[in-house]
Amino acid sequence: MKALEDSYLHKGMRESLINSIREKGITDELVLKAMMEVPRHYFFDKAFVRIAYEDRAFPIAANQTISQPYTVAFQSQLLQIKQYDKVLEIGTGSMYQATILAEMGALVHTIERQKELYLATKHFVLKSKYPSAKLKFFYGDGFEGLPTYGPFDKIIITCGAPFVPPKLIDQLKPGGLMVIPVAQDAHHKMLRITKQLDGSLSEEYFNDFSFVPMLPGTNSNPTK
Ligand code: SAH
Repeated sequence: MKALEDSYLHKGMRESLINSIREKGITDELVLKAMMEVPRHYFFDKAFVRIAYEDRAFPIAANQTISQPYTVAFQSQLLQIKQYDKVLEIGTGSMYQATILAEMGALVHTIERQKELYLATKHFVLKSKYPSAKLKFFYGDGFEGLPTYGPFDKIIITCGAPFVPPKLIDQLKPGGLMVIPVAQDAHHKMLRITKQLDGSLSEEYFNDFSFVPMLPGTNSNPTK
């Protein structure tokens, strides 16, 4: 069961979390404001309200994790979100990252390969604030993207990719940005790809992060 009360206590915990993320180097006020606005504990079971406000990753259903708040902030900052940006996210997971992007004004399309997690999006507790015009959920394989909904201004991958999926590059608009953790030894290095107006690509590498792996195909078996 989710905890659906947002009290001063929760807001206080959220404020400390945002302060610690700011101290770790996040400067984009739009990102910090969105993370202050969205009650992160709504994405956790009731027993884990305090953990929701610690800067760490945490297990969710289907053996997956909700990303660490700092990681969410870092990827969101790299995306340079503008109002009405059309965004594709690979790896819906808990829906937290997708909600942050929607709160920042993006029109979010998010794909999940674990059926159990996709089915949970039907009960998204903030649906009235972020209706499907702002945040759309899909069940599918992120390696394929969403060709019928693209191209996208921004693409964010929230699982560790073995390589940059070529179909996602195709679905990025000229002038668009992709933020993707790409495998390098035991870690994933954060990579930002810019598609120039002439279609050529430029790459910038950032810190190492750890992510659950980006896997091909879909999985409808809740025990795997
Ligand atoms: N953005 C999420 C992070 C979840 S962890 C959040 O805010 O909670 C990464 C998620 O990526 C997992 O749920 C995993 O099942 C999913 N995933 C892995 N490979 C995928 C693929 N090929 N297509 C879509 N989702 C994928």
